[in-house]
Amino acid sequence: MTVSSDVIVVGGGAVGASVAYELVKRGVAVTIIERDSIASHASGFAYGGLFPTMGAGIPGPVVRHAKRGISLHKRLAPELEDATGIDVELRAVRSLDLAADEDGFRDLEKSLAWLSEEELEAELLDGDDVRRLEPALGGDLTGALIQRSHFELDSYKYTLALVTAFERAGGMHMPGDVVGLVRVGDRVAGVRLRSGDEVPSGAVVLATGPWAGTGDGLPNFPVKPKKGEILRMRFPGRDFVHRVSLGGHYIARKPDGLVWGGSTEEDAGFDDRPSTSARDSIMAGILALAPALEAAEIVQHTACLRPVSVDDFPIIGALPGYENLFAANGAGKKGILLSPVMGRMVAGAITGDPGRDPIPDEFDAARFDYT
Ligand SMILES: Cc1cc2nc3c(=O)[nH]c(=O)nc-3n(C[C@H](O)[C@H](O)[C@H](O)COP(=O)(O)OP(=O)(O)OC[C@H]3O[C@@H](n4cnc5c(N)ncnc54)[C@H](O)[C@@H]3O)c2cc1C
Repeated sequence: MTVSSDVIVVGGGAVGASVAYELVKRGVAVTIIERDSIASHASGFAYGGLFPTMGAGIPGPVVRHAKRGISLHKRLAPELEDATGIDVELRAVRSLDLAADEDGFRDLEKSLAWLSEEELEAELLDGDDVRRLEPALGGDLTGALIQRSHFELDSYKYTLALVTAFERAGGMHMPGDVVGLVRVGDRVAGVRLRSGDEVPSGAVVLATGPWAGTGDGLPNFPVKPKKGEILRMRFPGRDFVHRVSLGGHYIARKPDGLVWGGSTEEDAGFDDRPSTSARDSIMAGILALAPALEAAEIVQHTACLRPVSVDDFPIIGALPGYENLFAANGAGKKGILLSPVMGRMVAGAITGDPGRDPIPDEFDAARFDYT
């Protein structure tokens, strides 16, 4: 193999693409090695929600990273469009977190308290207000919290735009299934491909999503796949311009007019095939919210795997026990939102110039053992 780079990034999902793009912008020679195609897994099929108000570590230490993610996405979207012509469809959305009874409404009141402290704009609505905003909602409705801090984008276009901008800035992308590291003592000097080829590099970043640690010679990450499925439906009209959610289910209309219904969370190993049981459970959940969707036509059903770490926080930075080996993984349900932050954190660690984005203790790869 003649290709040689300062850094190899293994994995062409949103996280690997972001690390690679941030490195190339800092003048580093980078090659992305991806065994399938760019954004062909979770990063290409995720809902694309940029929500700083929900998920692991929220409320808690992840809120500030989520807010930083949104501000970086706002800067990145026009930058990527200028560089590539790809519109990632970043837009503000209004979310309605519904309450079906008094207990649910009290939970929303509690949420409002911490959201106000974090200056995340939200407001409580009663049931009548909610029905005025979304007349197709059915069932019992005590009220809702309307969130005004939410954004979303098209996660496939976003990941593709990152890699296209990366290539236009001089980065390289090659196909390959990485099965091991080239090591000189503790120092990592490249990767070994299933084909038997070795690709030399000064450093390696493992951004392999839920497959972290499944390659023969790669370190074992405490990351597991969490399967998630989504339905895309044709349902003409203007209902669900607000993203509505209750009890783990949501309904939302995307800019192309399709209504998305989701989702599921399942430990199913590496099985990423859509299942009838998930389709039925999503339909049951969303029909309880909006019986009118009985008339919707399902046009696409996707399944993919979230990379979830054992403590639910991302795993970023230098791996203890190795020299020049870095992690960018474990973003779980927030990999699209956090990818620009994770990209800058890893690029900062590699170049020794973290700027505004040093790796925080809660994300630091050094908290785990990889042997
Ligand atoms: C149903 C669902 C909805 C979601 N909604 C949201 C959302 O609204 N907002 C949000 O922020 N996040 C969301 N997520 C989470 C988000 O999709 C993930 O956190 C994110 O895509 C993870 O990106 P990644 O780059 O780490 O992994 P991936 O996208 O899985 O990419 C990893 C890549 O590495 C490659 N790879 C693996 N091993 C090797 C190897 N040995 N050699 C070469 N290549 C290799 C794989 O082929 C893959 O392309 C959702 C996820 C799911 C499943």
